[in-house]
Amino acid sequence: MERLNRKETNIILHSEEVSKYPELLIFMGQFRDKGIKKNDISSADEKSKEYISEFGGAILNNARHEYNFTNEVKSDRDDYQCQLCNQKNLKSLYLIENMKNESKFWVGSSCIKEFGFEKKTTDLVNVALEMKFNKEFPQYNKLLNIERHPIVIPNTLISRLKKTQELLKQGKKEFIKSKGKNMENCLINESKIENIKKEIQEYVEKNINNDWVVNTEVIEWYELLDKKTKLKRSIGKIIARLKEDGHFKSDELHPITEKNHRFKIREKFRRLSNSNEYNFILDDSNNMYVRSKVKRIVFDIDETALYALYADKIYSNEKFEIESELLKIIEINKSIDNLEKFFKECKGAYHIESFIVSDNKLFVDADENYLYELDLKKTLSVMKSTNSIISFRNSNKTSKKFKKDKFNDYVDSLNTYRSRIIINKQKGIKYGKA
Ligand SMILES: [Zn+2]
Repeated sequence: MERLNRKETNIILHSEEVSKYPELLIFMGQFRDKGIKKNDISSADEKSKEYISEFGGAILNNARHEYNFTNEVKSDRDDYQCQLCNQKNLKSLYLIENMKNESKFWVGSSCIKEFGFEKKTTDLVNVALEMKFNKEFPQYNKLLNIERHPIVIPNTLISRLKKTQELLKQGKKEFIKSKGKNMENCLINESKIENIKKEIQEYVEKNINNDWVVNTEVIEWYELLDKKTKLKRSIGKIIARLKEDGHFKSDELHPITEKNHRFKIREKFRRLSNSNEYNFILDDSNNMYVRSKVKRIVFDIDETALYALYADKIYSNEKFEIESELLKIIEINKSIDNLEKFFKECKGAYHIESFIVSDNKLFVDADENYLYELDLKKTLSVMKSTNSIISFRNSNKTSKKFKKDKFNDYVDSLNTYRSRIIINKQKGIKYGKA
């Protein structure tokens, strides 16, 4: 090398490498903080002259390898001075440390590259600044968190929170971009975020016991619904509105089939006053049924239709009675026990011979030689309001008549006929010994 600038001289002088060359150490010591010019080298002793001109580059390189970037940053003032080049009025300094002898340099960002680190200077600086930020602002990640609440927080609140969180993120970027300045913005947004979170907490406390506030599970349930289902497509708009507002409207109660939401509505029906003709009951698998109080007949019910029918009453929490309009949306439950009980108690029961659920058939005595074969489902659908087999038989002119002889042949040959549920034995029909 023909000359060594001030920075190079300092890097070599603070290294272990230079101690291998005692003459050079003595010679260079005179130029600490100055740099060594061409003329200075020519007046040096022979060995130092040789070291610098022949091996200067290698010595500098070895010296550089002893230094490490520590990730420490100083940025609280605007008048720092670089210890490598003496430049003044720097806004931030970075600590470089010699790993072999612990000598340290606080340097400006442009002098970092003098140490020949493999990583780009901007990367080194950014990591160091980010670490400084994390140390000075440890609450950062917690502030960016959106806590899960049991009820849906209206969009007005949530979007304010998200917007302020974005500003905080922006603040961190500015901190890094400005090399460790503008922490004030982050502190301002910190208190804003804390205030909004407090508002959210107050909202939760105030609304959590409201009957028709939207529980978070409803939204989670909706997110998990298969996109292809009709339900998912049909309730998209309602869900969007619920997120906006956080509260159900009366006509939005019934389309949501999330189980906790349904449970809440079911409970309202189950607690209806005792004067009702019908009870609402749950089976072991949590399916809801309706049961008539007097005869204990069980009906299947379409819950969505039920909730739609009584939406306003349920919503306003007024007391009401379930009456005959319920018949429109219930069907007699087709369990064998229930059908047996129902048929035995209906008007004209003695005409009913038997029924087969799997074949959807009901056999009713017509006269000496014939049976009627009725469609079980259709018959039940009429009978649920009339409670009478007679009125159905009389009104149903198209009922299929069936010769008892032929019926007896079927009983012999068909398993389903043999295993039918018999309500009343009829004259002219063969029955087994049992
Ligand atoms: Zn410098």
